[in-house]
Amino acid sequence: MKATLSIVATPIGNLGDITLRALEILHAAEVIACEDTRHARRLLNHHGIQAQLLALHEHNEQVAAARLIDLLAAGKQVALISDAGTPGISDPGARAVAAVRQAGFRVTPLPGPNAALAALSAAGLEDAAFHFVGFLPAKVGARRTAIERLKSIDATLVFYEAPHRIAETVADLVALLEAEREIVIARELTKLFEEIVRLQLPEATAWLAEDDNHRRGEFVLLVSAPPPREGFDADSERILKLLLAELPVKQAAKLASEITGLAKNDLYRRALEMKDS
Ligand code: SAM
Repeated sequence: MKATLSIVATPIGNLGDITLRALEILHAAEVIACEDTRHARRLLNHHGIQAQLLALHEHNEQVAAARLIDLLAAGKQVALISDAGTPGISDPGARAVAAVRQAGFRVTPLPGPNAALAALSAAGLEDAAFHFVGFLPAKVGARRTAIERLKSIDATLVFYEAPHRIAETVADLVALLEAEREIVIARELTKLFEEIVRLQLPEATAWLAEDDNHRRGEFVLLVSAPPPREGFDADSERILKLLLAELPVKQAAKLASEITGLAKNDLYRRALEMKDS
C-alpha cells in the first residue's frame, strides 16, 4: 500500500477520549508529527506508544512538511497529531496536509475529539446550520470588525477563546450582536470542572463576572442564529440574492423592489449585508 499520512484526533481533556483506531495507528506509526513533543510524549506514554517524534508547529510547518514527505517516500508509517483535538482545526496541520497531498501521498483522517463539535452536541441549540469561526482576532478593532461581518450569517456562530480574553470577547459579542440571541458558554469540556451554560446573550457579562472560576479554563462560545428579519420572506430573499449575483447592489435592490413591492431602501440595506457575508 502507498505510504499514508494519518491525521489523528486526540483528547481535548479526558485521556480516555481516544478511539481504538487512533491507538492502533499511533502504535503502528514509526514517526509521529506533533505540535509540542513534551506534551505529546505525556499522551503517548500513557498509552505505551514509543514512536519517534517530529515537531510540527506553526513556525516550522513548511520545513516539517518536507521532512514528512521524505519519510513517506522512504516508506515510513507517519501520523500527525496536535496538542488537543483534531489537527488542522485552529491548530497546525493544513499546510502540511496540502504539501503531502501535493507530493502525491495519501492522507487519511482518524476522526475523534473536537471542542467545537463537543460543545454543539451538548448545547441543544436548534439552528439548522453552524458557522465555525475559531479564534477571533486579538486586537480590539479587528475583533469588532470581524463580529460585525459575522452578524448577518444565518447560523449558530462557533468561537474558541482563551481565559485571558474571554471577558473582552464576550463583552464585544454582547455589544455588537442582537439581544434576542442566546449564548452557550462551554468551558473545560470533558474535564473535571466542565460547565455548559445557556443564557440570553446580554446576561453573559454578569455570569462571567459573578465568579472567578467562570473565567478559568478553555472555552467554546456558541451564539445562536440572528432573529428572523421582519418584512423579508424567503422568496424576496431569494430574488434579491439572485439579482445580486448578476448586478451591482443598487440595481439589484431597485429591481428586487419592483418585483416584490418591498421598500427599495430596506432591500438595499439587506443587499449590503448579503454582500458582506
Ligand atoms: N484542534 C482543537 C479542536 O479540535 O477542538 C482546537 C485547538 S485550539 C488551539 C484550542 C482551543 O480550543 C481552546 O483555546 C478552546 O477555545 C478550545 N478547546 C480545546 N479544548 C477545550 C475544552 N476541553 N473545553 C473547551 N474548549 C476547548
